[in-house]
Amino acid sequence: MGYKNEKLAEEKVFKDPVHRYIHVRDKVVWDVIGTREFQRLRRIRQLGTTYLVFHGAEHSRFQHSLGVYEIVRRIVDDGFSGRPEWDEDERLITLLAALLHDLGHGPFSHAFENVFDLDHENFTQAIILGDTEVNAVLRQVSSEFPQKVADVIGKTYPDKLVVSLISSQIDADRMDYLQRDAYYTGVSYGHFDMERILRVMRPSEEQAVVKSSGMHAVEDYIMSRYQMYWQVYFHPVSRSAEVILTKILHRAKKLYETGYIFNQHPVHFQSFFDRTFLLEDYIALDEGVMTTYFQMWTKEKDPILADLSSRFINRRLFQYVEFNPATEYTKTGELSALFEQAGIDPDYYLVVDSSSDLPYDFYRPGEENERLPIFLEMPTGELREISRSSDIVDSISGKRRTDHKLYFPEDLLEKGKDENPLYRQILHMLRG
Ligand code: ZN
Repeated sequence: MGYKNEKLAEEKVFKDPVHRYIHVRDKVVWDVIGTREFQRLRRIRQLGTTYLVFHGAEHSRFQHSLGVYEIVRRIVDDGFSGRPEWDEDERLITLLAALLHDLGHGPFSHAFENVFDLDHENFTQAIILGDTEVNAVLRQVSSEFPQKVADVIGKTYPDKLVVSLISSQIDADRMDYLQRDAYYTGVSYGHFDMERILRVMRPSEEQAVVKSSGMHAVEDYIMSRYQMYWQVYFHPVSRSAEVILTKILHRAKKLYETGYIFNQHPVHFQSFFDRTFLLEDYIALDEGVMTTYFQMWTKEKDPILADLSSRFINRRLFQYVEFNPATEYTKTGELSALFEQAGIDPDYYLVVDSSSDLPYDFYRPGEENERLPIFLEMPTGELREISRSSDIVDSISGKRRTDHKLYFPEDLLEKGKDENPLYRQILHMLRG
């Protein structure tokens, strides 16, 4: 018996607040969880800066990764097992792809990737295929195994059914994060009947489909995603924290490039500023490391770096107003000029931020991150795309909602408005 089929002498369980227990029997799964690259996910929050709004949202990518694994394990071991459409040999590839799908996420992913022009998906591939502990464990299964797992995550794996379990519009990833994020933020939306969905999921050639009797559970899932996006993921205050975080990194990079002497030299960021970083530099970063720099940078001589760091650490965030770029495009230019005159650098203190989401889409050919539509299996065996049967899904499908906000340091302007008439003018214009 090879490593591939090796089971633990006794099943291991992780206690989990969302799925109650995460079950591990396969030796390879257990060994991967123990690697340094996987353990690193404990030090990266699932929701970035959201904890500054919903204080419970301290949960990590480690928990979410185990959760996605557990949902997929239940689908393949309980739901699909013994079904002629399901190839048992793909079980292990599917489980590992679920476990490792977010492996390359960096600290405060969104802001970090944005400033350094990186993509966590490339890092996921690089960690699975590179000289890492994860790779060494996967290679014990077979020399091609790491590549197969990476292909599922990269959506190039030939069996589309396997890919759809990790990445589609009703995948284990979404099913876990919606419930987990709802649990940790404490909001009442985000809940849906996953047990029912798992019970009616069926393997089909191209993807997992849902028996038509489960349609209402799926409607509930799609609506809960819609609400979570606008109530939690795009919350304007956590976006404010993200704006500040982005600007801290921009400022530090700029200072580094102009030869500024830091009190606390950014050793961990240096290779990212220079774009000479190695995989190990990326793995060495986590949110603890980043927050430590921000804490120390509150004492820097550069007033912008010190102020932004202090704003992040002490949660003195930017205020925001609604902003319509279509009709108010001249406003940012005028405001920018006023900021300059008033001695406030608009590059760091006047920021437009936009968020948008597509709650459900029936067909988006060729678009980046294209996701498969959800199909219902009708009693006749025919597959029907869900928005053709559900009025609720039809009413929101394909509709992208975008929200623009303009962020600025209201506290600073308020404090100085009596001495500086320009501050008053700026406030007036922003609130106008
Ligand atoms: Zn995920």
